[in-house]
Amino acid sequence: MIQVSDLEFRYGEGEFRLRISDLAVERGMTAAFIGPSGSGKTTLLNLIAGIIVPRVGRIVTNDVDVTRLSDAERRSFRITKIGLVFQEFELLEYLSVLDNILLPYRINPSLQLEKSVRERAEGLAEQMGIADQLRRYPSKLSQGERQRAAVCRAVLPEPTLLLADEPTGNLDPANKGRVLDILFDYVAENGATLLTVTHDHDLLPRFQRVIDFKQFGVVAGERGGEKRTKAAGGGGER
Ligand code: ADP
Ligand code: MG
Repeated sequence: MIQVSDLEFRYGEGEFRLRISDLAVERGMTAAFIGPSGSGKTTLLNLIAGIIVPRVGRIVTNDVDVTRLSDAERRSFRITKIGLVFQEFELLEYLSVLDNILLPYRINPSLQLEKSVRERAEGLAEQMGIADQLRRYPSKLSQGERQRAAVCRAVLPEPTLLLADEPTGNLDPANKGRVLDILFDYVAENGATLLTVTHDHDLLPRFQRVIDFKQFGVVAGERGGEKRTKAAGGGGER
């Protein structure tokens, strides 16, 4: 369960504001975040993951109030519970694709890098159509292949929450389907929750909920607080 309450977020003194009075996503749900560029979709994923912390409001992720954790607690929570697919993938150029996929196991002492984990990594890569790329370095891969490697890395530690920022943005239709199948199969098999930012409206019917950021607060450019929309309920149910 994810619960965002009375949130007001700004980057420093910048003009951008994200205001969410009440947004709840039940465990096991698949939800798509849509909305114009700059409306705060990536920001909200980062808030839910505890990568950034709001000064005002409460964010409960997997029943843990991430706004009340220390930095170290938030980091450990994130690594063990959340699978993240970043918009820019964030693959490490000096590691092979396989080592990138295994990275969570190398940086987190509570994850054991056993033989079965390697085998699962190879199985995922196979499903994703990048098995023959595992010994190569990210710079040698196409955008689409890098993206699929990032999805493998996010899923491997078996998180209860998957946050994916435009995970199909660089993919052709066949690979789009492949990536989505993996994400949806994963959440169905594990009872995990999936939050995905997407600009691809053809994909929306696959999600149980679509949450449109047009309803949230004031976007950069507005001044004087004249348009203080309160978001009720947090988005259309499909
Ligand atoms: P979206 O993902 O919906 O395109 P973002 O959440 O990335 O939107 O950004 C929302 C707004 O916050 C934009 O105006 C962007 O320029 C600004 N922004 C994003 N990240 C930062 C940051 N680290 N520091 C300052 N402003 C930022
Ligand atoms: Mg974004």
